[in-house]
Amino acid sequence: MTRDQQIVVNAQTQLYGIFGNPVSHSLSPLIQNAAFSHLQINAAYLAFPIETGYLGIAFEAFRAMGMRGANITIPYKEEALNFIDDIPEDVDRRIGAINTVRNDHGTLLGYNTDGPGFLMALNEELSFNPEGKSILVLGAGGAARSVVFSLARAHANKVWVLNRHVERAQGLTELAAGFFSETEFEAVKYLYEVQGEAIDLVVNATSCGMKGNQDIPLDLRILERKTAAYDLVYSPNETPFLQTAKALGFPHANGLGMLVNQAVLSFEIWTGKKDGVRKIMLDALKGQEL
Ligand code: NAP
Repeated sequence: MTRDQQIVVNAQTQLYGIFGNPVSHSLSPLIQNAAFSHLQINAAYLAFPIETGYLGIAFEAFRAMGMRGANITIPYKEEALNFIDDIPEDVDRRIGAINTVRNDHGTLLGYNTDGPGFLMALNEELSFNPEGKSILVLGAGGAARSVVFSLARAHANKVWVLNRHVERAQGLTELAAGFFSETEFEAVKYLYEVQGEAIDLVVNATSCGMKGNQDIPLDLRILERKTAAYDLVYSPNETPFLQTAKALGFPHANGLGMLVNQAVLSFEIWTGKKDGVRKIMLDALKGQEL
């Protein structure tokens, strides 16, 4: 960002932000502010760490202060549904988790850009098309919901959802099965349940590997054939999960591409603009320590 492109905050500045906890590691303020600044939109995007039990108050403040938009992140993507007015897209309503809120003249509209951002990243970084493929999703939280729904929308043949609290995985697979008849879904709790299966892609949609959570969601060495690996985690840029994928020679990518793609889609929902935004955001990330 050059000096004359820097945001000047004044009385007309529109406020955007991210609600989550933790959010101190979030790259969203950096990339969204870079896009606002480059397109000379008078807006500022901040990170708001929302304490447990305070999300409703945060949304009241959103309305009261006339914030224009927000991203919602871990752990509030599902709870946020209680505080918005409508979800315009059918598919987002079905997912039951949102990551983007737009203030449309006082009406708060919810969207989910994680799934489309994830599919774009699979294509861009792994040249992977889910159609007809068998995919193991690790995790059953808000991000996993978007991943599972987007894989089904992209005509995956089989999706296993593995989660330590298996009832969450069961809830997710039952929900998805109600909407997508073409894809077979199965909830699993233990690794041995998928051992020997012909898996084309493993997606880490747990928070394992994030700074502060060094657990490994799955030891890829149990897989009996070369499998693509996608990790939604991008900070650090190489988690233990991805280090194993690399050591095994598996095609692999971290969640940075998805982060940028979902951010571009959120930006478009708020501003109607997308041309050149991806490049601006990627440039802003260059040299960042993840
Ligand atoms: P969430 O709703 O809190 O779900 C967390 C998931 O991780 C749950 O399935 C949880 O299992 C599992 N988990 C957490 N710690 C675990 C452990 N030690 N061992 C096994 N499983 C564990 O979070 P989320 O919103 O889905 O986000 C998940 C991850 O995706 C986060 O790292 C987030 O940063 C990342 N993400 C990245 C992008 C991107 O653009 N790249 C977008 C969205 C999310 P239980 O249900 O058993 O607790």
